[in-house]
Amino acid sequence: MTEQTFDVAILGSGAAGLTAALTAAEFGASVLLVEKGEKIGGTSAWSGGQIWIPCNPHMKAFGKQDSREQALTYLASMSNGLIDPDLAAAYVDTGPEMVDFLEKRTPVQFMVVPHFPDYHPEQPGAAARGGRTLECPVYPYGELGEWRNRVETSPYYWPHVYFTVGETSLAQAVPDPLDPAEAQRRADNDERGLGHSLVGRLLRGCLDRGVAIELGTGAEELILEDGAIAGVVLADGRRIAAGNVVIATGGFEHNEAFKRAFLRGPLQNAVSIRTNTGDGLKMAMKAGAMLGTMREAWWMPVVEAPVNAMGVNLFTGERTLPGSIMINRAGRRFTNEAANYNAFGAAFHEQDQNSCSFRNLPAWCLFNQDFYDKWGFCDSLLMGRTEGRRQPADWIARGETLEELAAAIGVPGGALAATVAHWNEMVERGADEDFGRGNSYYDLYWGDPSHKGEKAATLGKIEGGPFYAAEVKSGALGTKGGPQTDRLGRVVDLDFKPIEGLYAAGNAMASIMGMTYGGGGGTLGPGMVFGYLAGKHAAQRNATQRGRTASA
Ligand SMILES: Cc1cc2nc3c(=O)[nH]c(=O)nc-3n(C[C@H](O)[C@H](O)[C@H](O)COP(=O)(O)OP(=O)(O)OC[C@H]3O[C@@H](n4cnc5c(N)ncnc54)[C@H](O)[C@@H]3O)c2cc1C
Repeated sequence: MTEQTFDVAILGSGAAGLTAALTAAEFGASVLLVEKGEKIGGTSAWSGGQIWIPCNPHMKAFGKQDSREQALTYLASMSNGLIDPDLAAAYVDTGPEMVDFLEKRTPVQFMVVPHFPDYHPEQPGAAARGGRTLECPVYPYGELGEWRNRVETSPYYWPHVYFTVGETSLAQAVPDPLDPAEAQRRADNDERGLGHSLVGRLLRGCLDRGVAIELGTGAEELILEDGAIAGVVLADGRRIAAGNVVIATGGFEHNEAFKRAFLRGPLQNAVSIRTNTGDGLKMAMKAGAMLGTMREAWWMPVVEAPVNAMGVNLFTGERTLPGSIMINRAGRRFTNEAANYNAFGAAFHEQDQNSCSFRNLPAWCLFNQDFYDKWGFCDSLLMGRTEGRRQPADWIARGETLEELAAAIGVPGGALAATVAHWNEMVERGADEDFGRGNSYYDLYWGDPSHKGEKAATLGKIEGGPFYAAEVKSGALGTKGGPQTDRLGRVVDLDFKPIEGLYAAGNAMASIMGMTYGGGGGTLGPGMVFGYLAGKHAAQRNATQRGRTASA
């Protein structure tokens, strides 16, 4: 079969792969981007599109201070020995450079998501009142010409994609309504926000630089010659000659065998694109790569519900707003419901030594009619708009009394009634004495906006039926483990020496974040920064080698 030759081959078209492709092309390389799915953008296109970049160039204008030391102190304070300080420094140092590079040379533009706090605002060095989380303004998809319909559309948000994150429940529990005239203008002009904007802009940057794009055929095998990368074999059998390959194939969350082999606890339902089956991990293992962060995922509680094409919904605002709690199979609360989603991994993975089982699975979110009337439940991206529904859909269990509800979901009725009574007493006293819900600014930020900054933003009694319970599962946005890289994005072998010409970025690489999730955009930020580093180094390595060949 004919062999095509490129300087750099990028595997995977999420934000990490697109950033690597665009950067490598901008630094003079000929680039092929290979995507296994039929469309561009991966989970990144489905996402909110926020990126977490400490010390980013937009913070000052927004009146926020930041420093390298603060950012590194923040990450180190949550590391538990799992964050490599050298890689954390590479990320913090390169983030602002990447933003600057994209904004000066490409259609990718950013703005601050207003006031969005870091996820652990009380930790030292946190941007407690926001500034590190950026998103793209809406992007007119007409700019993509014939590529307009080749970008993934989000099963979670489509067709409601004419919003920025700051205007949706992705950045606050109850967003302010967007002016209908502006919403209509954007829809008429097909100006998409969220991950659609980020991916659309990155794609335009790639097209402008002549990046060759292959859809619907995955990479299957790396070609190595004398221990260095020489190309890649595609699923259709074609061999691509390339001295540099960037693995950006997303995580392994849809590969049952890899999940069983590597993850620290149950990942029941991943919300990412189904083509993320750990192909890059497999290729890297075969090439002799060191692996890292394998136990971890970007944990996210989810509800399985027929509310979108994926049959699963990210579970965020409903557990923070006043008047709901979460309970385990013993009918007891087990966590601060308002904590950030990644922290839920810890609660779901807690084990009961006696029964050899996970103590808090299954789990439910419990609320009553008053709560539903006010906020709705998994009804809309724009929380609180229940579209005239008078009661929750039938996939949610119901009981006129707590005893009836307990029987419906199979938990002890007495324990459930005692839990709710105790909760109501604590709310009366104004403090969650058991799990500290409402102690962090993060919990209050995500609560009822009419009580912003007060405990009442998240603490609310549950009085009077009917009562409802929806099962909540241990999900994830994607996994975090993969080939270990150095600070230039180069994949290293078991002796921590670079495998010449092999790079990794995004969820396919060993995340530099250990167990943590720094703030809104905590996955896409590092993914794009390492995509930038990899693309730049690959192009420069290629130029150096060419120079050598020319002078030889
Ligand atoms: C609803 C939702 C909202 C989110 N919001 C945010 C947010 O605002 N900020 C944030 O930081 N994170 C967010 N996330 C998480 C974020 O989307 C992912 O962590 C991120 O997109 C991962 O980027 P990536 O480039 O590594 O992988 P992906 O975007 O998943 O791309 C990987 C690509 O590789 C392709 N691929 C797989 N195997 C092969 C192969 N063998 N050959 C070629 N291609 C292959 C896949 O088809 C896929 O297109 C959100 C996730 C969801 C679901």
